[in-house]
Amino acid sequence: MIDPYGRHITYLRVSVTDRCDFRCVYCMSESPEFLPKADVLTLEEIERVCAAFMRKGVERIRVTGGEPLVRRNVMSLFERVGGWLGAGGLKELTLTTNGSQLARFARTLRGAGVRRVNVSLDTRDPEKFRAITRWGDVSVVLRGIDAALEAGLQVKINTVALKGVNEDEILDLILWAHARGMDLTLIETMPMGGIDADRTEQYLPLSVLRARLTQRIHLENVDYQTGGPARYVRVAETGGRVGFITPLTHNFCESCNRVRLTCTGTLYMCLGQEDAADLRGPLRASSDDEMLDDAIEAAIARKPKGHDFMIDRRHSGPAVPRTMSMTGG
Ligand code: SAM
Ligand code: SF4
Repeated sequence: MIDPYGRHITYLRVSVTDRCDFRCVYCMSESPEFLPKADVLTLEEIERVCAAFMRKGVERIRVTGGEPLVRRNVMSLFERVGGWLGAGGLKELTLTTNGSQLARFARTLRGAGVRRVNVSLDTRDPEKFRAITRWGDVSVVLRGIDAALEAGLQVKINTVALKGVNEDEILDLILWAHARGMDLTLIETMPMGGIDADRTEQYLPLSVLRARLTQRIHLENVDYQTGGPARYVRVAETGGRVGFITPLTHNFCESCNRVRLTCTGTLYMCLGQEDAADLRGPLRASSDDEMLDDAIEAAIARKPKGHDFMIDRRHSGPAVPRTMSMTGG
């Protein structure tokens, strides 16, 4: 699949649920309205969409949410899709998780063919962790990370930079991650969905953080690319990598190779734009995949050039009304 700007679409992110066992302050309000079950695709329907994308050239699938590991029976989806890994099939099946259920599922994930997982962790301080996630217990997540490493999964830590909250802890988190063989990626807050807080209060440009880090450690530019939006540097002192995802200070859309499926079967061609295609209708209208295939083709043909995110005093509202947990971060 090639979009109107000549980009090859080879990467699908699949949100399997909008629900979550945490309520991160930058992601959701404290009591979000979750979707009725009937609107959510069954695991079999999700598998059908994944298969259709694979036939059209998608090589990598990342399962996300909401919290993907709280969806009942989600391991069966990993096992089915994982069965397509290998020569001529899927190249990679990955997962983004908050880590709360990893201790339970790490081995099964590895058995299903998952090799890399991204775990979101903004702080190791129990009180701050509770304040950011509203409900979470950091010791459970840290045990989950240990279990993932023990199961032989490669773990990358994702950390959202939050002004006045974890900015003093970033170096410590990097050193901690690198000592365990984990890369760490820093993310700027993105203006997605209504939350209970003011985003201008949370937003910390990574350019500021990077300048601070360079006073303490040596950051060397490297070519390392994962096909994602992060730009990587190597920390000379540890040999580990730090990624920077800066949607607000740097536009990464030129090399975008991905589309996102929500748990209701809506396909977003861009994280930061409203246009979307309904795949649930064609999926449920017929058991053969012709309508589904046509809907996918039509959607790719109108993938937009890029997003228009902006956070400043005049733009503190969301750029798009849906939250990251709905679109699948
Ligand atoms: N629940 C899983 C997790 O937390 O990893 C997967 C879904 S979560 C929406 C995916 C990633 O999006 C997490 O790393 C989270 O920190 C990030 N995220 C959520 N809302 C965000 C926002 N408004 N700006 C930037 N990152 C956000
Ligand atoms: Fe849940 Fe992930 Fe959103 Fe936090 S960032 S509320 S863990 S979906």
